[in-house]
Amino acid sequence: MFDLIIAGGLAVLPGAAAPADIGVASGKIAAIGAPGSLAAAGASRTVDAAGQIVVPGGVDPHIHCNSPIPFPGRNEDLLSAPPDQVSRAALYGGTTTLLDFAPCPSDQPLQQSITLRQREWAGACHCDYGFHLLLHGKLSSGVLDPLPEAIQEGHASVKMFTTDIRPNRQGRMVRFGDIWEVLKILGEAGAVAAIHAEDNDIVMHMYEKLTREDRVGFENMAEVHSTLSEDLSFNRVIRLAENVEGAALYMVHVSAATGVAAIAASRARGFPIYGETLHQYLLYNAEDYKRPGGQMFHTYPSLKFPQDQAALWAATDHGAIQAIATDEVCCPLQVKLQGRRIDDTTGGNSGVEPRVSLMYTHLVEKRGYSLVDFVGLTAANAARIMGLYPRKGALAIGSDADIVLLDPRLRRTLRKEDLHETDYTPWEGHEVAVWPSMTILRGKNVVENGRFLGSPADGQFLPRKIPDDIRSRPAV
Ligand SMILES: [Zn+2]
Repeated sequence: MFDLIIAGGLAVLPGAAAPADIGVASGKIAAIGAPGSLAAAGASRTVDAAGQIVVPGGVDPHIHCNSPIPFPGRNEDLLSAPPDQVSRAALYGGTTTLLDFAPCPSDQPLQQSITLRQREWAGACHCDYGFHLLLHGKLSSGVLDPLPEAIQEGHASVKMFTTDIRPNRQGRMVRFGDIWEVLKILGEAGAVAAIHAEDNDIVMHMYEKLTREDRVGFENMAEVHSTLSEDLSFNRVIRLAENVEGAALYMVHVSAATGVAAIAASRARGFPIYGETLHQYLLYNAEDYKRPGGQMFHTYPSLKFPQDQAALWAATDHGAIQAIATDEVCCPLQVKLQGRRIDDTTGGNSGVEPRVSLMYTHLVEKRGYSLVDFVGLTAANAARIMGLYPRKGALAIGSDADIVLLDPRLRRTLRKEDLHETDYTPWEGHEVAVWPSMTILRGKNVVENGRFLGSPADGQFLPRKIPDDIRSRPAV
């Protein structure tokens, strides 16, 4: 007797897509069988998935909830949308797992920072979640000493910036020596380093240069956060990490062909390094800055150029890019458009809801990727790299029953009014070839035909452990 049977759909299983029935019991996938084969066991409910594509719930490995957004003329930062708002939108769009960040300032004991973040999220997230530990500024022993213990407790990835990003936002960058020390700790404790890599000297030089030349409009962002900066900093961090026993890298929001090339070269040397890009970088470029409200498309480092997009796309086909994330920083349009300069335009974007359907459209329909590769790029690969697999990212016996039914009959044009994130979407007018008719989180039906049935009490914290193969070679 199952709680639920998803019958008659095209199921994207780890190795291949095949017509299959999926039986769910106690929040887990309990059986997978040929169409019709599970019915005899009985079920409280059977969902007819004929004509639909059945996939594991999406995994977005890079989002920022309750994250500070500077607002000119105000002393206090605004905060990006909270987890209940973002996770609700995520479920509507077929994403069931979010990885956010736990900011760990150097003047606060590490465990206290983690506890604060845990409290903020407990009972406030509709889907499952975990945290990358976010280290910034000059690192203290209060942050470094307890790191191995925090990693053992399931915070198995640590994010660091090699740049302050903007001249008026000091304190983010971690100096190279400190990054080295952290990599040694992570190498020993078994964690992955998630790096936002830009060459701080070049970035700050370009802020000064464009200010001198009176070219401070945000449409010049790609000159500041440049392909050269990505080249220099990716290679520098990679060479450092390659010299640390046990180190592994996850390069966040790869934006340029130079970043792709640096990762590819390191992977060819056998180093365990993985690349993440954003749907934003795949589908928009620096020309889009010139459109009305062009800030809407901006996310740091910056949109780049058509040749960079071509390299990113090519790298999603079993190359240097394993995961397509959002870098979600959800806020109202007024906030997203408030800055007009290279030094005050807000980064991040709103896109967690359409991510899965958009990527299906562009990967499977437009580019002919296999369904398995589509699931890899939107769920399975990030789950593997971040130590969540096969609990998340897989339709497999024993996995959490996070199941999404993608319905080609719900093909649509994206409109902000139909989405649940905020009052705008950078994806306005994009056509998507599928849309979820149903999202299931650990066996619970949380969205059905546009009706939301979830609760902020549903989300569970996910402790993570990075598997050895992920850390020993480019395993995904
Ligand atoms: Zn980010």
